[in-house]
Amino acid sequence: MTPDIVIVGGGLVGCSAALHLARAGRRPLLLEVGRIGAAASGVNFGGVRVQGRALFELPLALRSRAIWDNLVDIVGTDCEYRRSGHLRLAKTPADLDAVAAYAEKVRPAGLDLEVIDGAEIRRRHPAFNATLAGATWSAGDGQANPRLAGPAFARAARAAGAEIRDNAKVVAIEPVAAGFAVATADGQRVTVPQVINSAGAWAPDLAASLGDAAPGRAIYPNMVVTEPLPPLISCSLGTYGNGVYLRQVERGNVVFGMGRGRLAAPDRAVPSAETSLAAMAEAAWLLPRLAHAHVIRTWTGIEGELADGQPVIGPSPRHQGLFHAFGLSGHGFQLAPAIGAVLAELATAGSSPTPLDGFSITRFTAG
Ligand SMILES: Cc1cc2nc3c(=O)[nH]c(=O)nc-3n(C[C@H](O)[C@H](O)[C@H](O)COP(=O)(O)OP(=O)(O)OC[C@H]3O[C@@H](n4cnc5c(N)ncnc54)[C@H](O)[C@@H]3O)c2cc1C
Repeated sequence: MTPDIVIVGGGLVGCSAALHLARAGRRPLLLEVGRIGAAASGVNFGGVRVQGRALFELPLALRSRAIWDNLVDIVGTDCEYRRSGHLRLAKTPADLDAVAAYAEKVRPAGLDLEVIDGAEIRRRHPAFNATLAGATWSAGDGQANPRLAGPAFARAARAAGAEIRDNAKVVAIEPVAAGFAVATADGQRVTVPQVINSAGAWAPDLAASLGDAAPGRAIYPNMVVTEPLPPLISCSLGTYGNGVYLRQVERGNVVFGMGRGRLAAPDRAVPSAETSLAAMAEAAWLLPRLAHAHVIRTWTGIEGELADGQPVIGPSPRHQGLFHAFGLSGHGFQLAPAIGAVLAELATAGSSPTPLDGFSITRFTAG
């Protein structure tokens, strides 16, 4: 296969782009430095929620929801995706006002949220802390197994004709007359008219090497999981104001996250014991039955966050044929399937029906 587009990075974004490009008749070559879907896309919390997102992000997030809802048709497996619903908890009356105001704001954009007061939370979820002020309920949101998602999209992409190479580190992308010469660490070089930069937390460096700077940093969301427990909660949940987020997988383990781990060595992040203990206290406050649960593992991953907490998705302002999708800022697992579809449209048709205002990299350079 002679590729006509190179995708740098085999996370869920890159794998989805490969799938949609191959199905559109293109010849994508995906290069992944490690193993497919093993970075942020494979170690995240598994939350697939639309609620809580910025207004301009909703068309993309709702498009992604439609893909999650039809995963079996699209990639041949459900990646353990369940449309379980998502609760956004409010601890105080002021928090409840804030989440209720958000519900009003997003309704015209097509996101239906139910505002639930404290009494109703207690009726529906008697296992929760009885002092919660309320929540918003998003019935259309869900959760999935992150370990399965990237590889599932990659397998489907390969079946559709994409070439997927792992253990292939891109070391340089050089603009040339025919497009871009892409060099890998093992000495290979391929020239293609188009390149997608979906290298996750490492993408800003690649972008900067081509003159497209976006200010950001790496973050390391801290995750905890308990032993399998009897059923406690069937939906996924988060807490307004960066508190704990939590879900219970079908096997019974309760997975939750809060705060950040830290970098221990280049490209190796580790969870923080202090953060894990704080998250455990918070989870046990929320669900008192967790107080005596055993934690069996803590972990983190490396994720790129941009200065305004929103991704860059779209064409390079400097180089025709170069597209960026990075800086997903801790909330890109839900978005990734649609980002791949959008990237395929941009690379093939030059535009996407999904509004991308707000995602342009030029927001960091203009003015
Ligand atoms: C612990 C944690 C919890 C999270 N929880 C959630 C959640 O519940 N819900 C949610 O929506 N989002 C969540 N996120 C965010 C989400 O996981 C990411 O936004 C999303 O997976 C990013 O996908 P990606 O494909 O852009 O990046 P990645 O999955 O990081 O993939 C990028 C890939 O590029 C490769 N790469 C880098 N440099 C090169 C190179 N030079 N050559 C070749 N390949 C290269 C990397 O090895 C990597 O595999 C979480 C993130 C973390 C870390």
